[in-house]
Amino acid sequence: MITVLKILVVLFLIVLVIIMVFKPRKKEGFVLPDHFKDLLEDYIAFYRHLDEQNKKHFIERLEKFFTSVKITGVNAEVEDMDRVFIGAAAIIPVFYIRDWEYVHLKEVLVYPGNFNHDFEQRGTERDVLGMVGTGALQNVMILSKWELRHSFINEHSGRNTAIHEFVHLVDKMDGTFDGVPEILLERKHVPRFAALLQELMQRIREGRSAMDFYATTNPVECFAVLCEYFFMQPAYVQQESPELYQYLRQIFRTPD
Ligand SMILES: [Zn+2]
Repeated sequence: MITVLKILVVLFLIVLVIIMVFKPRKKEGFVLPDHFKDLLEDYIAFYRHLDEQNKKHFIERLEKFFTSVKITGVNAEVEDMDRVFIGAAAIIPVFYIRDWEYVHLKEVLVYPGNFNHDFEQRGTERDVLGMVGTGALQNVMILSKWELRHSFINEHSGRNTAIHEFVHLVDKMDGTFDGVPEILLERKHVPRFAALLQELMQRIREGRSAMDFYATTNPVECFAVLCEYFFMQPAYVQQESPELYQYLRQIFRTPD
């Protein structure tokens, strides 16, 4: 009798272990709702052109991003479309850099329109469309909702403020904010790349390039503006400077 009881207890324990091992585990973190995938298909050309395997990977990267970065509206309602646009702008530049994470970024603030450098929405200097925080706001990025939507809906403009801001974070990751992402570009190429940025700035100043004049501000802005075109209109960058185009492909690990 005791032996039968022992066998039953052992059997019960085995069944219990099997149930625990095979029980489907609840996924932790943000799970992308299906209608987000529809928005990606409709508005994000980069995503639309990926194969099925890469689309799956893009979604995993988005889920990870939404799990670690909070998106908050400041006097603006953040809709799912805005979330998809912000997530896409974060993932597109680093999609082929497989283990990339925006480690310092904690929150994206969404303002309705432009704002000035003091992050105020009123006043006379409402000319800033996007910004990565410094000092006390180190972990914060600010985007204008109007500009965010405008960039993705008019994707042929070659401009994209949200991608521009995420490229700034890529640039900053090596500890220096200088227009050259040293952790992604082999050291031997750094001087040539920096010289090419200076050359491009000069061409724009002299009216020999149609690229946005804002790129002449400094090498940091030149790199970010150049990357906007690279991700939105790569053919234009290739035509503008085949050498810079090849460097950008190396930096962002873009496949053939
Ligand atoms: Zn900038």
